[in-house]
Amino acid sequence: MIYHLGLGSNLGDRAGNRARARARLAEEGMAIRNSSTLYETEPVGRSDQPWFINQVVEVESGLSPWELLKTLKGIEKDMGREVSVTNGPRVIDLDILLAEDTVIRTEELTIPHPRLAERNFVLVPLAEIAPEAVHPVLKRTIRELLRCSKDRSRVEMIR
Ligand code: ADP
Ligand code: MG
Repeated sequence: MIYHLGLGSNLGDRAGNRARARARLAEEGMAIRNSSTLYETEPVGRSDQPWFINQVVEVESGLSPWELLKTLKGIEKDMGREVSVTNGPRVIDLDILLAEDTVIRTEELTIPHPRLAERNFVLVPLAEIAPEAVHPVLKRTIRELLRCSKDRSRVEMIR
């Protein structure tokens, strides 16, 4: 299965945390097929925190979505993520954005990621590596979702 994953960090060595998480994905047996540029992004929802470093990667994995979620949570825990507040500050945030045409809607796991279409910090890097990917619920491409996004928060490519 091909997955698109979102990586984010806004505490400590943000770029280093992102690199560490990416290395862990490979150690867990995922083949990283493609990676977006790194972006520095304005926090959405709660502005009283540092900007994030965000990246989207495309991985191939034999894990089921549930197994992958468990693996990602394990990596977050190992890397010292303690509190889990939606949109809050974190050492590392690992989200499953897309799993091909898979649609899952439970409280513990929702795929496509429920806030994907409302977040430029996801849409911009995702559109960089998968502009033609079709959101299986909204039936629109990522490029279209980005064009129609009402999110005005800033997303700056790091050069
Ligand atoms: P956010 O990433 O939206 O800021 P959190 O990372 O704090 O929110 O949310 C973590 C919870 O979201 C996890 O406990 C997980 O079970 C749930 N969740 C639901 N769908 C997904 C998904 N597609 N990817 C990652 N976590 C998900
Ligand atoms: Mg998350």
